[in-house]
Amino acid sequence: MAVIGAGYVGLTTAACLADLGNDVVVVDINREKIAQLLKNRVPFYEPGLSELIERNAKARRLNFTTSYEEAIPGADYAIIAVSTPEGEGGEADLSFVESAASSIADCMDGPLVVVNKSTVPPLTGDMVSRVIGDRNAKHRADVVSNPEFLREGSAIQDFMHPDRVVIGSHDRGAAEKVATLYEPLQAPILITPNIYTAEMVKYASNAFLAARISFINEIARISERVGADAKLVAEGMGLDKRIGPSYLDVGIGYGGSCFGKDVKALAALAERFDYHPELLNAVMDINRDQRMLVIDKLREALDELNERTVGLLGLAFKPNTDDLRDAPSLDIARVLVAAGSHVRAYDPAAMEGARVMLPEVEYTRDAYGAANGADALVVVTEWNEFRQLDMARVKASMRMAVIVDGRNIYDPAVMRGLGFTYRGIGRD
Ligand code: NAD
Repeated sequence: MAVIGAGYVGLTTAACLADLGNDVVVVDINREKIAQLLKNRVPFYEPGLSELIERNAKARRLNFTTSYEEAIPGADYAIIAVSTPEGEGGEADLSFVESAASSIADCMDGPLVVVNKSTVPPLTGDMVSRVIGDRNAKHRADVVSNPEFLREGSAIQDFMHPDRVVIGSHDRGAAEKVATLYEPLQAPILITPNIYTAEMVKYASNAFLAARISFINEIARISERVGADAKLVAEGMGLDKRIGPSYLDVGIGYGGSCFGKDVKALAALAERFDYHPELLNAVMDINRDQRMLVIDKLREALDELNERTVGLLGLAFKPNTDDLRDAPSLDIARVLVAAGSHVRAYDPAAMEGARVMLPEVEYTRDAYGAANGADALVVVTEWNEFRQLDMARVKASMRMAVIVDGRNIYDPAVMRGLGFTYRGIGRD
């Protein structure tokens, strides 16, 4: 089988399917990425992935190429896992999917099941089908939607132990053929009788999770005003089995490669079909404002931001990844720099990428370096190592001991006891 795209989803899918005993070839148009992979180097940080790739590459079940000619002929599945970034007007940019479909069509030498794993709006499967049919009338291609739900940072675990596998196609036989790939995982498999439903499950799931985050952050805004502790409010809500505790973390909102663009794309899709998605718009507005709450709290605690030194703990959009796509840290650092602050930052995994995206920031060797001489410290990403810092040492090294805890990882009473001016989110 061929996997198209050597990103987080493509590489995880390829390595896991190879580990389940399949012969997999990964194709990517990025030569540098493929060159690194051929040397067993994974071009991003994902726990356990390089070991899995190395093991399967050694066993010759996993290979890498830039050539569709090498990957497609003879394959029975082509799994598309290319990027679908934000396009014009917020709609998903499907040009990479379209180009992958064209390249597949040009190299097909027999019937093929084309599996779309990229996150795409309903009707994209039909577009892929049309593109392939127009370029290659000789061979039959059945297009199947099989959205991916893995999370960066736990990608292998999520792929190997999914809550569910969703598969949809106009052709039941093709959907069932894709289902056989997942049989070893013994997970619930939902086969939808048309492709649009499977495509919609992915957007609806991401939009719902984003809505939970914006919901609890709105509750946090209200809690701050009435003296409630939103972290405990979330805990109290989450104990209700109907609600559950996931995605109720009060903080500076969601970021990353998926939620932002997917909620936007779903809203844009709705507008295109003459529906005004009020709830989705509110989810996005609350999330945008939540990032700036950190700035408001800093301004309030420091009086002004000009010529202040602010240390950022964490840059990645969440812990255990080096991914900076749509990370709140980018907005926060840029606003601080524009306001005249000197920004120092430390992240255990994301500093290499950050140096390129935020050249005006000073990067430190560890969290203590970010705190040293700073007027304020902001917790942006809740990496575990920040929970275990020697806070007395941090306090002693700072010029003014202000902490804005954007992820509520510290105990307010303990921090105030140590002499910090502490500001959490939803529980001042
Ligand atoms: P990514 O940007 O990490 O990787 C995409 C790869 O596709 C890149 O290496 C790029 O060079 C390659 N590519 C682009 N066009 C190509 C083409 N025509 N032929 C071959 N390769 C091509 O993206 P990702 O994070 O892996 O996401 C891929 C898709 O999966 C997106 O639709 C995303 O929304 C979805 N998704 C991502 C996650 C996640 O956590 N990252 C989770 C679920 C779903």
